[in-house]
Amino acid sequence: MIVVLKSNVPEEKKEQLTEWLKEMGLGVHVSNGSYHTVLGLIGDTSRLDMDLIASLDIVESVKRVSETFKCCSRMFHPEDTEIRIGDAKIGNGSFVLIAGPCSVETEEQIVETARAVKASGAHLLRGGAFKPRTSPYDFQGLHEKGIELLKTARKETGLPIVTEIMSRADLPLFEDIDVLQVGARNMQNFDLLKELGHFGKPVLLKRGLANTLKELLMSAEYILANGNGNVILCERGIRTFSDYLRNTLDLSAVPMLHELTHLPVVVDPSHATGISRMVPPMALAAAACGADGIMVEVHNDPLHAKCDGAQSLRPEEFDALAKKIRAVREAIK
Ligand code: PEP
Ligand code: MN
Repeated sequence: MIVVLKSNVPEEKKEQLTEWLKEMGLGVHVSNGSYHTVLGLIGDTSRLDMDLIASLDIVESVKRVSETFKCCSRMFHPEDTEIRIGDAKIGNGSFVLIAGPCSVETEEQIVETARAVKASGAHLLRGGAFKPRTSPYDFQGLHEKGIELLKTARKETGLPIVTEIMSRADLPLFEDIDVLQVGARNMQNFDLLKELGHFGKPVLLKRGLANTLKELLMSAEYILANGNGNVILCERGIRTFSDYLRNTLDLSAVPMLHELTHLPVVVDPSHATGISRMVPPMALAAAACGADGIMVEVHNDPLHAKCDGAQSLRPEEFDALAKKIRAVREAIK
């Protein structure tokens, strides 16, 4: 249930109402917007008298929310969430370009790639230190050493870093990471999601290979309900009947998620297509349909990449794409 308060309600009255609702055994999430305060009630609201609450002089309206995600819901938080990461902002009209290799391999590789993508206008650097690989015999990432190399690249370029966390046991290594990525395969690792709620750092949550938008939002809900509102959703393609492409990029997820939630939505055309020449057209389409950011794999030497070389852009290809993305953003303003 969602309770929208009238504007300019004194704090004291808001607190009285919140306390009373808590005494009824409900969790209360307070969202302070610029016009209205919205209370999201969590728990069994079946015994609550909606009419009684609606009759209170400080209450504008009461709505039952059929959706099971509450904190993520646009109904609960009508304004877009904007997340700050260093100097970058994402959401509420601000757009970010996230670029970098699939995995961190060497200092030369990550620093050279970071310098190149920064020069092309990237706002954040990506790179995996812990890699979720289908085969246990494939390169699994440099782990702690990879995290250190990402920090070196951040120091060299000033770009904040995005890197994947696979297990909550690794969290101590992520204290100084700017954005923690939860990969498609871990989207429903609920213990990890809860822990990231407490950890508090921005999270980039990727849609699972075969997950619905509702399931994606329920996973985000785990993070928000545990105290962390800084969640970025990522559409990265889903399993369908695609034969020539790695996945099917569900771009309609972008405007639908924007209707359902206030959280920013980014698109990853690299994992969606698996083929570098397919990445620019899909990245432009993502920008055109209103994505709040695009995450692209870029490698300084894709032919020798340890992971996902076939879908990685060369720095000069990324440079050309970044210019076109800016033009599309300008065109849809
Ligand atoms: C990645 O971004 O490196 C990755 C492994 O992506 P996904 O989880 O979407 O497959
Ligand atoms: Mn990859």
